[in-house]
Amino acid sequence: MTIHDVVVVGAGLAGLSAARQLTDAGLDVAVLEARDRVGGRTEGGVTVDGTPLELGGQWLGPTQNRMYELVDEFGLTTFPTWNRGQHLTVLGGRVARLASHRGAIPRLGPFELADLFQGLRRFNSLAAKVPLGQPWEAPGARELDGQTFESWLRSNLRTRAGRTFFRIAAEAVFSAESRDFSALHALFYAHSGADLETLLSVDRGAQRDRVVGGTIRISEALAEQLGPLVRLGAVVEAVVHGDDGVIAELSDGDRVRARTTIITLPPTLAGRIRYRPALPSWRDQLTQRLPAGSVIKFHAVYERPFWRDDGLTGQVASDTGPVKVTFDNSPPDAHLGVIVGFLEADDGRYWGRRTLDERRAAVVGCLRRYFGDGAGAPLEYLERDWMAEEFSRGCYGAHFTPGVWTSFGPALREPVGPIHWAGAECATVWNGYMEGAVRSGEATADDVIARLHRSPS
Ligand SMILES: Cc1cc2nc3c(=O)[nH]c(=O)nc-3n(C[C@H](O)[C@H](O)[C@H](O)COP(=O)(O)OP(=O)(O)OC[C@H]3O[C@@H](n4cnc5c(N)ncnc54)[C@H](O)[C@@H]3O)c2cc1C
Repeated sequence: MTIHDVVVVGAGLAGLSAARQLTDAGLDVAVLEARDRVGGRTEGGVTVDGTPLELGGQWLGPTQNRMYELVDEFGLTTFPTWNRGQHLTVLGGRVARLASHRGAIPRLGPFELADLFQGLRRFNSLAAKVPLGQPWEAPGARELDGQTFESWLRSNLRTRAGRTFFRIAAEAVFSAESRDFSALHALFYAHSGADLETLLSVDRGAQRDRVVGGTIRISEALAEQLGPLVRLGAVVEAVVHGDDGVIAELSDGDRVRARTTIITLPPTLAGRIRYRPALPSWRDQLTQRLPAGSVIKFHAVYERPFWRDDGLTGQVASDTGPVKVTFDNSPPDAHLGVIVGFLEADDGRYWGRRTLDERRAAVVGCLRRYFGDGAGAPLEYLERDWMAEEFSRGCYGAHFTPGVWTSFGPALREPVGPIHWAGAECATVWNGYMEGAVRSGEATADDVIARLHRSPS
């Protein structure tokens, strides 16, 4: 059996970036990818009238520098998300229009607005103090980690509208209910991507730009550079590890041997691989506690972006589902109108158990409520239920349930013998995002390069 220097498990952005960094350092690498395509939680392959519709991760924003560098390196370009006109907010059945320059802040009465601003100030000030490499060392970490984000917002916001804002934000950012994850995790995650408003915003935020042709082109370009090193349809079922390296055992009975491995699977899936010998308990107990978010992403395609005629951006933030968040995802030349939206958290969980026809009817019903009768008959309705994807089992990323950062945090990135961990969930900066995946892949590759140089074969 050939003995590679490193076997990288997973060909998403983390695995591909890691593999490239390793090959650039002259190491012999094999990349094993379960799906029949690269890109993982980014996905292309669906076009309507020549327009690619992205079913996975799609937006880039300021400070996601590695992603923009990759865009440049591969000769790709970006275009801004449509953000001209007015947003719609729907709170307690009240539909309000909101100038897009107000960002994510809804129109509220003076008392509610004051409450929301003090809540945001308090949240941002706590978030800024969370050390990104060691969230468990934040001031008051145990107390913050011992409560859900829902408990935090109940204690720190007085008005229903203020709390609702934070709950919608929780669903939009974490694809989870505010009761599902710890307050410390919410603070860490926001700080990891700058602050909460950056995560929610378009013009100066994480939804600012899209890549022409889709973000999948970045993974495809990386995979092209790696060529035959990337093996598709290679499902790793077990990893045997010891002082002399690792053997990855595949579902087709094949075995791939290497001196080290980088496993880039989302934590839950990394925990489902069988390890021989079994992993230390602290690592296994960590992956037992890091569930993936619940989301179904959809596109409703129309002849044209008719909502723009009505002065609307296509963006909705609503407290009533099943669709609570939408954006205008039309192509740059607007030859089609596309609304992208999400069924998140409890809405995703409920509607994921219904039929496609039932979901479509519920989604289109929501869009009609927001954009009028014109939204009632899309030319196409396309969706991806990420919870049902065997090799993701949820998205956008994993969330830390209460107590996990403070009890198990150091186990997230700490290697176990020759096994190293990478992926969006391991990132310190832009955790959970494509940028985080690339940074984590490259940082872990650097650790492996240093390790192999210390102990040459
Ligand atoms: C609907 C959706 C919307 C999103 N929106 C955005 C966005 O707008 N902006 C943004 O920055 N991020 C967004 N994200 C998040 C972003 O896509 C991810 O953070 C990022 O792509 C994760 O990359 P990764 O390499 O860490 O993990 P993954 O992409 O999950 O890569 C892991 C790889 O491992 C493979 N694998 C799994 N099991 C095995 C196995 N047993 N053997 C071998 N291979 C295996 C998987 O097939 C996959 O290719 C979104 C994600 C989704 C799903």
